[in-house]
Amino acid sequence: MTDTLAPTVSAPSSTASSASGSAGFPTERRVVTSIPGPRSNAIHERRNAVVASGAASGFPIYIERAHGAIVVDVDGNQFIDLGSGIGVTTIGHTDDSVVAAAREQVGQLTHGLFTITPYEGYVRVAELLAEHTPGDFAKKSVLVNSGAEAVENGVKIARKYTGRKAVAVLDHAFHGRTNLTMAMNYKSMPYKLGFGPFAGDIHHAPNSYPYRDGLTGAQAAARTIAFLEKTAGASDLACLVVEPIQGEGGFMVPADGYLPALQKWCTDNGIVFIADEIQAGMARTGRYFSSEHFGLIPDLVLSAKGIAGGLPLAAVTGRAEIMDASHPGGLGGTFGGNPVATAAAVAVFDSIESRGLLAEATRIENTLVPELRRLQSSHDIIGDVRGIGAMIAIEFVQPGTGTTTKEPNAAAVAAISTYAFQHGVILLTAGTMGNVIRFLPSLAVTDAQLLDAISVIEDALATL
Ligand SMILES: *Cc1c(COP(=O)(O)O)cnc(C)c1O
Repeated sequence: MTDTLAPTVSAPSSTASSASGSAGFPTERRVVTSIPGPRSNAIHERRNAVVASGAASGFPIYIERAHGAIVVDVDGNQFIDLGSGIGVTTIGHTDDSVVAAAREQVGQLTHGLFTITPYEGYVRVAELLAEHTPGDFAKKSVLVNSGAEAVENGVKIARKYTGRKAVAVLDHAFHGRTNLTMAMNYKSMPYKLGFGPFAGDIHHAPNSYPYRDGLTGAQAAARTIAFLEKTAGASDLACLVVEPIQGEGGFMVPADGYLPALQKWCTDNGIVFIADEIQAGMARTGRYFSSEHFGLIPDLVLSAKGIAGGLPLAAVTGRAEIMDASHPGGLGGTFGGNPVATAAAVAVFDSIESRGLLAEATRIENTLVPELRRLQSSHDIIGDVRGIGAMIAIEFVQPGTGTTTKEPNAAAVAAISTYAFQHGVILLTAGTMGNVIRFLPSLAVTDAQLLDAISVIEDALATL
């Protein structure tokens, strides 16, 4: 396979008004320079002088514009984006409906501070969240800026409601980069090392990781619960925070019955059950929220990432009596529920409904999974293929260990991801052991783009 593929449907014009949506936007992968190209390298040099090293970029191509699942860099290279900015542009880069809604809103009101002088868009997003999160009961929301802030507020609300302090999380979890959420993360590098002291009263319990622990859902839940009862004490726990499908951890889909058993234990013990749906929610798995796949009715649901089509917005949504535990003025923030972000979120919800986007997640799974299983059958370093909808992962192991020791193979993942990048595919890694490739394409990705990306991965495997 060559770097330069068939000509694009319509070549990008360097003078095109890059803000004008889908018309004429390329739909194919095309590599025209070395990667990163000279213009990207020039910006990168400036960046190294003024941007903190901690905010490092995994793929240092500088993006000029993007639409659907294609990203165009400043050198004119066209990438198939299978990461979506870590699951943010779920309905596609610069989706026309999001662009139109944000444009209109930006000319009307860019800031009101909802807790001073409110506006309707915030209310509309709360209505949509109440309607689409699992559970048939009165729900309320608070809107904030980022996933970590949603986690912080979820914990804060649960503590106020229960009058308890301790927080339970699962091994391999990722919840953010603020002080509290750092403490809730599993991995030290890169999230915690040297950044302490951390918030206290966080209890890390074993999770369900079917490929590695071989436990049934009931066995894994019994292990989690026994651990928390022993180390934290159920009556001290304000909340248990779980990602129904873990994101950074490597897209582990828990064994059947695991999550419902945890939820039941929480309910029986007065512990607020919080689903961190920041990565798996908002249509990514073919349902509005991934909790639905497991029959979960969380007390609180956390959303962020995909909720506003690329604009910064996050939410805590849940049982009205829990959400109302905070006194007036106890929740909020200057930018939370920004009018432009809420207008974009309304457009995202409308698009999911009116364009039937939930089915696109299932289409993506049906295209990707058979292809990945085909690769697995001929490459014994692919130990596991898993995930739901547009959230699919492959876990790499050392040759010959896939059914025995399952020894992690981070080197293969790094090599494949680098090869894919060089050939015009943005492919994210994941996993606590760095040995997982995750596919988080936007729902706008076409089957042709997916199959083209798979061909690149196949080429990469052949080079190992
Ligand atoms: C990304 C993520 C967060 C943190 O969100 P930010 O917007 O980066 O603060 C929290 N939880 C999960 C599951 C995530 O994937």
